[in-house]
Amino acid sequence: MKIIRLPAKLAAYALRLKRNQQSIGLVPTMGALHDGHLSLICSARKENDFVCVSIFINPKQFSAREDFKKYPRPLSKDLELCRKAGVDIVFLPEAEDIYPEGFGSFVDLPAISSLLCGKTRPGHFRGVATIVLKLFNITRADNAYFGQKDAQQAVVISRMISDLNLPVKLRVMPIVRCNDGLALSSRNVYLNKQQRQDAVVLYQALCLARCLIDHGLVDTQRLLLRMRQLIAKHQTAKIDYITAVDLNSLKPIKRISQGCLIALAVKFGKTRLIDNIVI
Ligand code: AMP
Repeated sequence: MKIIRLPAKLAAYALRLKRNQQSIGLVPTMGALHDGHLSLICSARKENDFVCVSIFINPKQFSAREDFKKYPRPLSKDLELCRKAGVDIVFLPEAEDIYPEGFGSFVDLPAISSLLCGKTRPGHFRGVATIVLKLFNITRADNAYFGQKDAQQAVVISRMISDLNLPVKLRVMPIVRCNDGLALSSRNVYLNKQQRQDAVVLYQALCLARCLIDHGLVDTQRLLLRMRQLIAKHQTAKIDYITAVDLNSLKPIKRISQGCLIALAVKFGKTRLIDNIVI
């Protein structure tokens, strides 16, 4: 497994692979790898000649009051997991090589970036879209692997690929969960014992939604109220949003319909968790 730190070096390497007709699968991550990341790597491994995993905690997608500084960085464990998963290249850049002095170009998708998580995380998806476009350009990826866990991120990337005619195929993979249903996340390590127990209510609320819809409930307000009531039973939970939206536009819908997205963000102490289901 190669570890490449410089964007120019990876770009040159990727160009050589492309000249030799090798397909490249890219898995962008911020490290602290878990089984969710590994499922993306596993799909990339099956579908490409070369697999590149990027590990980069992108400062441009964190606001000043967010957890950039304390975000977990278990690098040697991550490298070991990548090695075991058959990754060919780990791209491990420094922020100053990604954003050198004078850097000034950004990708902005204001219509979808301002909704859901964008309301409490202004600038977040601008940072995400910008780094992902840079990674696409550096790695010349044929296929790029993202998790449904970050549903809005997948919609932003899909829109960017389509709007900018990027020659990349987006692959969105299912959410990997713990046995009790909590979606795996690098941020779960921040939770204390009580918060970790209470956090299961996110998945329970989504399951409740699915069950109510299966029994014929279509009124969005009534559905979301039932979910809110369930989550509110847990004192450590503070709801940021719960919403039902169209999966492409992310605009709220009045009536539940096939293919809609039910998404939520809930804070436990300082830790903000997200989860979702597609109906
Ligand atoms: P992150 O390192 O948190 O930026 O995540 C990197 C990629 O892994 C993103 O595309 C996430 O959506 C995906 N991911 C994170 N958690 C999960 C999970 N529990 N199941 C599936 N994919 C995930």
